[in-house]
Amino acid sequence: MRFDTKLVHEGQRTRPGAGDVVPPIHVSVTFDQFAQDPARYYYARGESPTREDLEACLAALEDVRFAAVFSSGQAAASAVLSLLEPGSRVIASDDVYGGTYALFELCRRRGVDVRQVDLSDVDAAAAALSGEVDLVWVETPTNPLMKIADIAAISAAAHRAGAVVVVDNTFASPALQQPLAAGADVSLHSTTKFIAGHSDVLGGALVLDDPALHRRLVDHRTVVGGVPGALDCYLVHRGLKTLSLRVARQVANARAVVEVLTASPFVGAVHYPGLPGHPQFELAARQMSAPGSMVGFEYLGDVRELLRRMELFAPAVSLGGVRSLIEVPASMSHRPVPAEVRARAGIADNLVRLSFGIEDPVDLVEDLSAAMAAAPHVERIGAR
Ligand SMILES: *Cc1c(COP(=O)(O)O)cnc(C)c1O
Repeated sequence: MRFDTKLVHEGQRTRPGAGDVVPPIHVSVTFDQFAQDPARYYYARGESPTREDLEACLAALEDVRFAAVFSSGQAAASAVLSLLEPGSRVIASDDVYGGTYALFELCRRRGVDVRQVDLSDVDAAAAALSGEVDLVWVETPTNPLMKIADIAAISAAAHRAGAVVVVDNTFASPALQQPLAAGADVSLHSTTKFIAGHSDVLGGALVLDDPALHRRLVDHRTVVGGVPGALDCYLVHRGLKTLSLRVARQVANARAVVEVLTASPFVGAVHYPGLPGHPQFELAARQMSAPGSMVGFEYLGDVRELLRRMELFAPAVSLGGVRSLIEVPASMSHRPVPAEVRARAGIADNLVRLSFGIEDPVDLVEDLSAAMAAAPHVERIGAR
């Protein structure tokens, strides 16, 4: 089966004789031990049919054997980081999701050595991976600057250093980027974003092919209890079926608005891997099937006023849903990151991040153009 067919057909176990075209939602948290032969389900913190259906689909989408889903992306990330002992060495992207940074801080407090470097810089990545390393954490495209790291090159170097490679694939989704095929060991998703796609359910997933690592992660999940409920798994799986259709429209919308942003006198730098001027434009074209639908740009006026004037883009964090969103990382998504760390990573206070939904591109262009032009301070900037 090809990718778009898998979206619809994988993990669709129906009840024999019922004629369902959609699998039933198994809400039971405990299972009759004598009614099953062989007994497979015991207690839903450990195993649950509806969760397994979603996992079967997610694993198939990246052509591997295993996926483990969690109650949120953070729970998935924290399961991976729980594998680390005090003294373990981690090399991670410098420009990561704010919540990931907060998890790194927890690791540092328990004696894990987490070094953040610019993994889009080939020389910096090679230098960081020249010693012994236990875990490499790659986020690509990065959040919010849309830097691209070379997954294949980093995975090869990381494996020489003895490390496990995790790629946070949330921004690209499996529709646009396949980290495991490029050599990474674990593909991590906040399924809250593109995978579920409707901003109405939290979830996380780890997708991988190593049975021993899968066992450790699932055992950890069972003990700690960060499992999603059956109804949440159903919602994620329902949303997932339209991933390719949504992502195609989201990318088209991003491209339409980027064209307007690059021509606007009210806009400074525009961060989008689909722009020929982007520092990793060619790598993005090689590694991703499209440049995605997340865009960062520096607004030369009052960012709060801009957000207030938007009609269609909701001023809200998160991403990947059917409705377009606008946010200011320095004061919203990246507030947990200390100001000096943000400054070092290049996240300016006037950096605005857009997440594109599936609305008509003309309406989105009009909304953003009108909001930028209507703000009174903009005329001053235009005139100087
Ligand atoms: C949202 C997000 C997470 C965390 O996921 P939650 O589902 O919010 O816990 C991790 N990484 C990236 C890139 C994200 O955007």
